[in-house]
Amino acid sequence: MIHSSEDINAKVKAIAARNPVYAEISQWVGDLLSTTVEASKNFRPSDLKLNFDPLPKAWHQGKSLLNPEELSLDWKNAKELFKQLVDQIKTTEDGQKQVQGLLQALAKGHDDIQTLMKAVLTSDLKAIQTTAKELKIDSPILTLLIRLSLRPALLETARAVQNRMDLGQWHYGHCPVCGSAPRLADLSGEGGQRTLHCSLCETAWPYIRLRCPFCENDNREELSYLRAENEEGLRVDLCGRCNNYLKTMDLREIPGPIILPLDDVATWHLDIIAGKYLEDKGSALS
Ligand SMILES: [Zn+2]
Ligand SMILES: [Zn+2]
Repeated sequence: MIHSSEDINAKVKAIAARNPVYAEISQWVGDLLSTTVEASKNFRPSDLKLNFDPLPKAWHQGKSLLNPEELSLDWKNAKELFKQLVDQIKTTEDGQKQVQGLLQALAKGHDDIQTLMKAVLTSDLKAIQTTAKELKIDSPILTLLIRLSLRPALLETARAVQNRMDLGQWHYGHCPVCGSAPRLADLSGEGGQRTLHCSLCETAWPYIRLRCPFCENDNREELSYLRAENEEGLRVDLCGRCNNYLKTMDLREIPGPIILPLDDVATWHLDIIAGKYLEDKGSALS
């Protein structure tokens, strides 16, 4: 879902009020996000050939409809947007340190950026880290900028596909549209229905609450969670079988909607808590 600038600004304010540590970074990401929303008007509509009706049998058996590797996206506008975002971060002190490398990436030409974009689409962390090192930029910043440049095209493609499917019919832990893993979950409504949010195309789909989306483990004894201190409505769900975790926001306690790039950044401390827990657990076992 493409959120309006008003939604983005309201979310940035809510984050700053909840956890002032994130005030600056969420403002920064919020501004970049608003640029992507503005730019989405220039992107050509998805030219996917969606000639399936009913949905393919394989979809019901867990095969996502699209393969991120094969997507034909509006690369020209995505690259244009990347340039715009680089221009924008030049104005921040922290951003300035990164800009040399980012400009270098742009100077190397269209193909290089497109290769990087493909690496982000396929979650090829190694390729991203190698490039970030070459260009002397922080790899999370490079990933964020590339992801934001692709966002209008990805969200538009996902939207076109979502209209054709009944997400209530999808019972798997990976994204019904692109097959990527979820990045966040939310709980809402009476009883706290769980919804997962795709890390790539941001599609949201319902999922059983007491089951690990990564390995489908539903043994309650192996499922646990951690809470951040003094923070209502935020937690990390952990699976003792596959050792994966998922950050969860309870929208009965925290205002929605989920705006993935912002909510992800504003819950980085949960990634640290989960990482530390899993590390300690690993060393206790060895
Ligand atoms: Zn997806
Ligand atoms: Zn698991």
